[in-house]
This record gives sequence, C-alpha cells and structure tokens, in this order.
Amino acid sequence: MPKIKKITALEILDSRGNPTIAATVTLATGIKATAGVPSGASTGRHETLELRDGGKRYKGMGVTKAVKNINVVLNRKLRGKDFKDIIDIDYELCAIDGSKNKKNLGANAILGVSMAFARAVAYENKMSLYKYLQNVYSFPKKIGFPYPMMNVLNGGRHADNNLSIQEFMIVPKLVSFAERLRAGSEIYHELKNILNKNGLSTGLGDEGGFAPKLKNNEHALKLLLKAIKQAGYLPGKNVFLAMDVAASEFYDGGKYKFENKKFTAKDLISLYKKWIKKYPIISIEDGFGEDDWDSWILQSKKISDKIMQVGDDLFVTDYKRLQKGIELGVANSVLIKLNQIGTVSETISAIKLAQKNNYKVVISHRSGETPDDFIADLALAVGAEYIKSGAPARAERVAKYNRLVKLEREFI
Ligand code: PGA
Ligand code: ZN
Repeated sequence: MPKIKKITALEILDSRGNPTIAATVTLATGIKATAGVPSGASTGRHETLELRDGGKRYKGMGVTKAVKNINVVLNRKLRGKDFKDIIDIDYELCAIDGSKNKKNLGANAILGVSMAFARAVAYENKMSLYKYLQNVYSFPKKIGFPYPMMNVLNGGRHADNNLSIQEFMIVPKLVSFAERLRAGSEIYHELKNILNKNGLSTGLGDEGGFAPKLKNNEHALKLLLKAIKQAGYLPGKNVFLAMDVAASEFYDGGKYKFENKKFTAKDLISLYKKWIKKYPIISIEDGFGEDDWDSWILQSKKISDKIMQVGDDLFVTDYKRLQKGIELGVANSVLIKLNQIGTVSETISAIKLAQKNNYKVVISHRSGETPDDFIADLALAVGAEYIKSGAPARAERVAKYNRLVKLEREFI
C-alpha cells in the first residue's frame, strides 16, 4: 500500500499568467510526482470552489491560502498514512475538507494532491498513468484513441474580439492519432494564411486559436470550411466542426444576447439547425445556459438525433447534475473537467454514469493551463471518444496531444 511521506505545493503561473498550484506527493519509497492544476475563465456557476486569496497581490488571484492548505493542513494530516489507492485518498481529501463545494481547502488544492498521488503511485508501480487509472477504476482494457476537438478560432471570454461563440473547433477523424494531429496542424496553418490574406488578425486567444474580428459568428464557420479544403482535407468526410457556444456567458434575463439581438431559445435552435444543415457540425457544447434546463430539453427534442449536445457548465462534471440531466433528457454528451469537481475519483464517477447512459465523453483542458498532460492519460484510460485541448499550438495545449502521440507509439 502506498504510504505518504510528504505533500508539498508551490504557487506557479498558468498559461494566462495567473497563479495556480503545482502539488507534489512524495511516497515512503522516495518516489514523487507533481501535478499542475488548471483554471477556467468561463467557469460554470455550479463548479466547486477554486480558492483564491483576494486582496492586492496578483489582483486577488493569488493561491497562497490553497498552497498553505496543502503544505500545512494536508501534509500534517496525511503524512505517514497508507492509502490503498487513489479512491481511498480522494475519499479522505473530501472528508478533511468537509464542505459540499470544497470551500475549506479549495478544490484547486485538493485536485493537485489527487492528481499528484495518482501519478506517484503509477510511477511506483512502473506503470503508465493511463494504465494505473484503467486498472484502479476497472475500465475495459480495450484501447481506443480519442478524436481531438481543436479550438482554432477563439471568441467569447477567451478573446477580445466580437465573436459571442467561445470556441470554433475542427475535429479531424483520421485513422491514427498522429494523423489527426497532423491534419489539425495543417488546417491551423492554412487558416492563418487565409486570415493574413484577408487582412484579419492572427493574434491568439487564450487557447491558442486565432482571435480575429469577423463579420459575424457564421463567418468563422466559413473560414474553417475553407481552411479544411485548402489544406487538402474533406469537410464532413474526414474533418468535422464543433462549437462551444458557452451560452451562459450571454444569457440575460430569459433571453440570449447574440450579435446585438435578443434571441429566444427557439431562435437559437433555428440558427443551430440552419448551421448544422450548411456545415459539417457534429457537436454543440453549452448551446444554452447552465440553468436553462427547459431550453436544453427543447433542443434535445429538435436536434439531438443530429449532433452531440455537450453539457459543460450545465453538468460541471458533477454526478448529481448529470443524473438530473439524464433523467430530464437534456443532452447526449458530457464535457469532463477535473477541476470542476475537484478529485480524480469524483471525475471518474461522472464519466462512468455518462457511459452507462450512452453519453459521449469529451475530456477537456481549461483555458488556463499548465504543461501537465494528465488529461491525455485520463482520456485513454476511460476510453473517451473525444479530447478537447485547444489549438494544435502553444506548449500547454500540445502537451496533451503530444502525450497521446507518444502513447499511440507504444501500441504500434
Ligand atoms: P474555461 O473554458 O476553461 O475558460 O471554462 C473552456 C470551456 O468552456 O469549455
Ligand atoms: Zn465549455
């Protein structure tokens, strides 16, 4: 049984230049591992609590309290203790915190320890992280690599442009993961050329995608179609489109403020329907607000047979909200983010519930990231159909894709 020797943490910077946590777990054998905690910008209202210091330092974004909770509270309580596995320690972490939303220690503190522990135990057992996760949570041994959802045009909260839709993604569906990555990169570069030629900005948004000012949201879809074709791929055959509307961000008093107009749920559904017909869109994430269950149900009735309806802010990787959604019939896919719920084991509970109900699983990064590639192993371990890790550019985004390329090599 792995025994904990010590747990430490540091305040480091994430990809947006905001503080986050690097947590290190050292086992009695001397084996140690570190994990970097991600952080969102368009966070759902129902996510667990990310503990920030407030005050002047880092404009309130410091995480010294959360770091102290690891270095002092958790280290004192957990050092010298044996844990059977990650499930065991996650249970203990939640018990020590004792609150519903992890407000005492901070979900960021708890998640750092949870991830670092899993990684340390995998090292100790001389196993890849994905294999450890697959074993400990009893996932089938069959290996399938996820399709990447690559966010190549950024809007919403992740950019300073005029696009209300937060993410326009390409989804290469070629045979190997390496080929999917290559297609993503070639299309990304083609898109850059097209933007350049049209005098549009090639500055980047938070997730590494371009963030130009465009005529409207549909203009983004047109540009993607053109880039896919020019790169020599076939839209609707081997490369598809996906969007994260992140509609909670423009939900306002029962209506959706979209392109300077007020849209009802019906208006938005008609727009989605029109776009699905015109463009090879296979997935719409957060097409409606996080508490607008009725509109989600309506959308389900109208278009769920045609596309993946992905709940992100809606479900927040929370077993209970997902259960409610399944009962109400609001979606058919779930976005999974470790830091929305705060431990690896609770994340797995949501994934298992989704899979039992034939939901598609999309494992996701956050807009604020570190080079930590945990989610690549997570996607492989659980057999997720998709992984969303931003553009095929910038080190913190490609770390996850590159890890999957490396893992794929082990199977060839
Ligand atoms: P966030 O955005 O990490 O800023 O929340 C990602 C998403 O909404 O999927
Ligand atoms: Zn989202």
